Amino acid sequence: MDIDTLISARSKSINGSGIRRVFEIGATIPAADKIDLSIGQPDFAVPQPLRDAACRAIQEGRNGYPLTRGIAELRDVIAARIKLDLGWSVGPSALSSSPTDPGILVTSGTTGALVLACMALLNDGDEILIPDPYFVLYPYLTTFTNAKAVKCSTYPDFRLTAARVEPLITPRTKMIIFNSPSNPCGVVSTEQECRDLVDLCRRKNIILLSDEIYDEFSFSESRTQAFVNDPSHKSCPSPARVKGSEDCVLVIRGYGKTYGVTGWRLGYALGPRRLIEEMTKLQQYLYVSSPHPLQWGVLDAFNVDMSGHVADYQRRRDLVVNTLSKVTEVPMPGGAFYAFVKVPDRFGDESNRGENLFQAGVKRNLLIVPGRTFSQRDTHFRLSFATSVDKLTRGLDVLVDLMK
Ligand code: PMP
Repeated sequence: MDIDTLISARSKSINGSGIRRVFEIGATIPAADKIDLSIGQPDFAVPQPLRDAACRAIQEGRNGYPLTRGIAELRDVIAARIKLDLGWSVGPSALSSSPTDPGILVTSGTTGALVLACMALLNDGDEILIPDPYFVLYPYLTTFTNAKAVKCSTYPDFRLTAARVEPLITPRTKMIIFNSPSNPCGVVSTEQECRDLVDLCRRKNIILLSDEIYDEFSFSESRTQAFVNDPSHKSCPSPARVKGSEDCVLVIRGYGKTYGVTGWRLGYALGPRRLIEEMTKLQQYLYVSSPHPLQWGVLDAFNVDMSGHVADYQRRRDLVVNTLSKVTEVPMPGGAFYAFVKVPDRFGDESNRGENLFQAGVKRNLLIVPGRTFSQRDTHFRLSFATSVDKLTRGLDVLVDLMK
């Protein structure tokens, strides 16, 4: 059999090599010597109450199919939180009865929500606008849907602004993907930037998909906006907190990063009821549901205080910025656990500087991710500071030595 001739052009057009290659090269370095600053996953332990609740759910037999839209108990917990945070009355749930209220769907990770949103919205040839640099999945969302991802360059400050995206909008544009705090840059948008994007999307009849997977990882100086119905709780700005944004913003959040449970595959989407209904219908066939016992596992997650870990990451962020800014430019990450750092010009041209620094790092047992993995340019690299201070310090020493 020649299986290769059977593989679809769609699948062949997807280049899985970026992060996987870093992973495979990393596997050849002995664990004790490896300084891995490439991983996009928190390094803290999963909170005990979540582990206990997940185990209890399995033992108590909550192992069959749940409702496609997610168990009612979890949707109610999310709806209550969203009421405090965004001021949205989310339904259908015990907390809402109006058919015009936004809808809610528990998804298979934030990835599940992103895929469903594109499946629900995009026809062949439709366009979405994504930031460049981007999270690696974003361009491929349109490969799955025969649509087109138009990249909006955000260099050199990595801010996705209405002024930058507006000239790229065409009659085929259906959606803008906004991600704050961002991967790979850690940039947090301001309230004004959020407002301008919401205004633009409403004016142009475009969905603003707000990927807020890193919302809890925003550092003290970026936490400027209070929860709408709980002013004591500061948070990073969200377009969904702009008054009346329920009709054009699709919010996507996840449990994976916040609680260190990336393998549990749990996220949720909130937005215009009509769109959420369509995504729910598609989820029934594509994912069926997110894992049933693990939905019980995160039921009390919002009561677990993760602020100590976020403060810890802020100290590591400071260590990264203070150390590397002595030898290169480091745009200040206001959140997430990444820095997107400029590679000095002498490492090559715009198409290979990140790769050349990556190769030099591998020789010293250091793993970073070249900027080309997330961008049409290769002038930067991504460093994850979700690792021990000891490893981080060793990695920064190597980077300073290479770039000085
Ligand atoms: N969006 C962004 C910006 C991400 O960085 C990631 C994961 N690295 C995802 C979505 C997907 O997350 P999940 O594991 O919840 O599907």
